[in-house]
Amino acid sequence: MRHLILPFVLCLVSFSLANPKDEEKKIFEAMPSNPSVVPEKVRKVLIYSHPSGFKHGSIPTGAKALRLMAEKTNAFEPTFSNTTEEFTDRGLSKYDAIIFNNCTHVQKAFTEKEQREAILGFIKSGKAFIGFHSASDGGMPQWQEYTDMIGGCFAGHPWNAGGKWPFFVEDPKHPVNSAFKETEFMISDEIYQYKSYDRSKLRVLIGLDSTKTDKKGNSKTNDYPVSWVSSYGRGKVFYSNFGHNKATWWTPFLLQHFLDGIQWALGDIKGPSKSIPQTRNL
Ligand SMILES: [Zn+2]
Repeated sequence: MRHLILPFVLCLVSFSLANPKDEEKKIFEAMPSNPSVVPEKVRKVLIYSHPSGFKHGSIPTGAKALRLMAEKTNAFEPTFSNTTEEFTDRGLSKYDAIIFNNCTHVQKAFTEKEQREAILGFIKSGKAFIGFHSASDGGMPQWQEYTDMIGGCFAGHPWNAGGKWPFFVEDPKHPVNSAFKETEFMISDEIYQYKSYDRSKLRVLIGLDSTKTDKKGNSKTNDYPVSWVSSYGRGKVFYSNFGHNKATWWTPFLLQHFLDGIQWALGDIKGPSKSIPQTRNL
């Protein structure tokens, strides 16, 4: 047994010695050096990372990546918060965008009507909302309007974080997809199926090709959107299901995709949000 135990112990030791600076270095090196478009003015972004449900281990990694993205590209100026105090009409008036970084069950964090109206009113007035991974794990039924805004609600993840899954670029010409050099790619991350999802209300950018996996989800047409954009009132929404795994946050083409999605929602990158028909597995 000794020959089995020793590698296991060494593995534990190296894991416990993992240096947060190493993670930061990996993220920094994977990060685009420049914004895709130089912003016309300073874009102030409020990044909220508090989970009210399941707490993802990748939350600090995502926050670190968003901080390094801002520092390296100057695409935006971030303010980080784990409290809800800024989410009032007055508090939000200082910002151009809200990012929800893996914050599950937002309906439990934002329980007051005024808070909810402040967030949705902020976006409708022409501002931006960006959600990563479990930002869609919440909303309905207590806060249906949030689900309507983000575009769908988590309904399980048939495609688990440890698997490697096949994705396709549904809209290859969209500027938020410029990071993808191939129309198909495979990576590991945890991929959701949704309830209250309506393709006609958003523009799917990246999809999961479930027919190439041994898992079956809840969609009759195998329509599993992974990244999308939409218009909400006069504002813009970018959402990506990627971000469960820490490694997502140091994958160069995903960081480019995230940066472009943020810059699109902020209005610095121009591109359509009108829905397009499903192209696969009909
Ligand atoms: Zn997850």
